[in-house]
Amino acid sequence: MTMQMTREFEGKFDETEHWSGDTMEDVLEHPAEWALRVDRLPHIWCPGCGIGVAMGAFVQALKEAEIDRKRLSVVSGIGCTGRVAGYMKCDSFHTTHGRAIPFAVGLHLANPDLEVVVFSGDGDLSAIGGNHLIHAARRNVDLTVICVNNFNYGMTGGQAAPTTQEDARTSTTPRGNFEAPFNLPALVAAAGASYVARWTVLDLGRLRRAMVEALHHPGFAFIEIISPCPIYYGRFNRMGDALNELRYYRDNSEVKNFAPLKEADLSKLGGKIVVGKFVEEHRPTFMDRRAAHAARRAAK
Ligand code: SF4
Repeated sequence: MTMQMTREFEGKFDETEHWSGDTMEDVLEHPAEWALRVDRLPHIWCPGCGIGVAMGAFVQALKEAEIDRKRLSVVSGIGCTGRVAGYMKCDSFHTTHGRAIPFAVGLHLANPDLEVVVFSGDGDLSAIGGNHLIHAARRNVDLTVICVNNFNYGMTGGQAAPTTQEDARTSTTPRGNFEAPFNLPALVAAAGASYVARWTVLDLGRLRRAMVEALHHPGFAFIEIISPCPIYYGRFNRMGDALNELRYYRDNSEVKNFAPLKEADLSKLGGKIVVGKFVEEHRPTFMDRRAAHAARRAAK
């Protein structure tokens, strides 16, 4: 026998108890609302994508680092991660492909009091924008660069990127990738970055702390965030769903602060992921060197 529930069994609905004139929007405020353009939500990212987690960590880090939103500029390039700038409630710029860093450098030079953050993906920053990345690092320009690495170009259909791992399948390498990928922490450190870290989206607390450090760091600070792209990279390489990728991060990532950067190599699909803070040095920034040079010339 099935029991039938009808409205007759419900208690009498007390309108004064259950209903006020307030809408849900009046009553509830999301803790990230102060930093996000909620009118742009829901975001465009696929279920299980790690970019939203990275953006959430960034919002928390801004609060913890006590960054004044009126002084903050977030710059993105093109790609899935490039959408972050559009969701941030601050002066934000969605620039052309690969040009987030030169745009950010221009902002910094025009107004060095701004807190300028570049938030973009591995393809945008290290392929199309690769030249800008190494030269901003070489100059130790006072920027925070957050690079979400999901090993492929997600937005345009999962093509191979300069970070795609050896033998990995993508839409342009259906038989496996034969190229050697970049080791991004080693690349930017060799170019001159004075703060370099890598965390996965699973290391939420550590990632947030790294972002706080990077925001306060005088000089070129680079954080690589390893993040799942279950729709393309995960699916093409039979990694299971996003939760499986997170399990993989849990079981295969190893925290090794200040590890020799050769160990940060990620070229083996399914290999170990060394995470940690790799570089933290205090060296004159681009603006420091420029001021010192001007002073030397004035003294002659
Ligand atoms: Fe994320 Fe990949 Fe979807 Fe882009 S395509 S939103 S990187 S899961």
